[in-house]
Amino acid sequence: MTRSVAIFLLAALALPAQDRYAKLMRDILIFDAHIDTPRYFLDEGYRLRDEHKYYELDIPRMRKGKLGAVMFGIYAQPQDFPPERWLPRSLEVIDALHTEVAANAKDMEFAYTAADVERIHKQGKLAAMASLEGGHLIGDSLGVLRAFHRLGIRYMTLAHFASNSFADSMTGEKLHTGLSKFGKELVGEMNRIGMIVDVSHISDKAVLDAVEFSRSPVIASHSSSLAMAPIVRNMPDNVIAAIGKRGGVICINFHAGYLDKAAYSVYFKNRPARDAEIKAITAKTPIDWDAVRAVQKKYFEKMPKVSYTELLKHIDHIAKTAGVDAVGLGSDFDGISGMAPVGMEDVSKYPVLVKGLIDMGYSDADIRKIMGQNLLRVLRQNEEVAKQK
Ligand SMILES: [Zn+2]
Repeated sequence: MTRSVAIFLLAALALPAQDRYAKLMRDILIFDAHIDTPRYFLDEGYRLRDEHKYYELDIPRMRKGKLGAVMFGIYAQPQDFPPERWLPRSLEVIDALHTEVAANAKDMEFAYTAADVERIHKQGKLAAMASLEGGHLIGDSLGVLRAFHRLGIRYMTLAHFASNSFADSMTGEKLHTGLSKFGKELVGEMNRIGMIVDVSHISDKAVLDAVEFSRSPVIASHSSSLAMAPIVRNMPDNVIAAIGKRGGVICINFHAGYLDKAAYSVYFKNRPARDAEIKAITAKTPIDWDAVRAVQKKYFEKMPKVSYTELLKHIDHIAKTAGVDAVGLGSDFDGISGMAPVGMEDVSKYPVLVKGLIDMGYSDADIRKIMGQNLLRVLRQNEEVAKQK
C-alpha cells in the first residue's frame, strides 16, 4: 500500500467518528451529579458570569463544555463547622445558589423536575439543581428534610465525612453497621417526597442497606471504582453491581487521587501539611483565598499527573460491572481543591469524554446515557415513585 492510499483509508475510517461526534454534540445532555461551586458565591463573591483562571465552573467555560445540567452541592463539612452552624450554613449556601441562578437568567434556570431539565436544556440554558451533602445537615428532623425539598434539594447524601444518626460514613466511626433504624425511616421519607437517596461517602454496608430499603433507584453522586484505584473513598464491584441491579447510577468522581492509587498516596501523605498551611491562612480575616489556592496548587503539583483517560477507564469498568445504564458523571468539580485530571481541568472539557467513548466503541445511545440520560432517568423514576401514594 502506498503512503497516500494508507492516509486516504485512515481518513475514510476517521470520518464517521467525526460525524458522530459532531451530531452528538449538537443536542447531547451533559448532566453532572455533583459540583460544589455555591459556597464560593457566599464566601468569596465568586460570580458565574465571568471567566476565571481558577476553580472549575463558570458560564463561559460551561458554554464551551456544552454542560446542560448540574446538581450543585450544598454542604457544611462536619469537621469544619460546629453543629449549630450546619443548618444555617446550608440555608445560606442554597440561598446564594438561588440568587446566583436568578442573576444569570439568560444562561441558567433553577430546575425542580426531570421535565424542567429537558425544557431548560432545549432552550440552550443550564438547568441548575441542588443537592444536600450529608444527613447531619437536617438536624435529625424529617420536617427539615421536607423543607429542603421545597427549596429545591433533589438528592441528599446520607452521611458525609462523619457517621451520623442515619448512616455510617466510610471514613467515620462504625456506629450502626450500615443504616440505623432512623436511617431506614429517612430513606422511606425521601422516597415518599421524591428526593433521591445518595450513597456516596457512606460505608459499603450502609450502601447495601440503602439499596435494599429504597423503593426508588439510588445514586452514588461522586464515587469512583475501588477495583481501578484501591483507596478508601471508592466503591467495590459488589456494591456497584448492587446499585446497578436496582436501576441506580454511579456517577464517577474526577478527583485525580480517586482515579489513581499512586496519586492518592502522595495526596494522602501530604494532606496534613497542606491542611495545616490552609488552616493558618483561613484563621485570619479577611481570608486570603488566593493564598489558599496557591497552597492547594503547590501540593497538587507534587502528585503524579493523572490523565483524563483514567476517568474513561473507571467509566468503562463500571459499565462492564453493572451495565451501561449504571454509569454517570459526578465530577466533584470545585470540591476537589483543583486536583482534576490532565485534559479534564474544568467544565469546558466534557467533550473529550464523548470523543473518548466513541473511540472505545460505545454506541451513540450508550454515550448519551453515560453523559446524562441515566441520571435524568433516575430523577424521573424518583418522581414517579413519589406520585404513587
Ligand atoms: Zn463529597
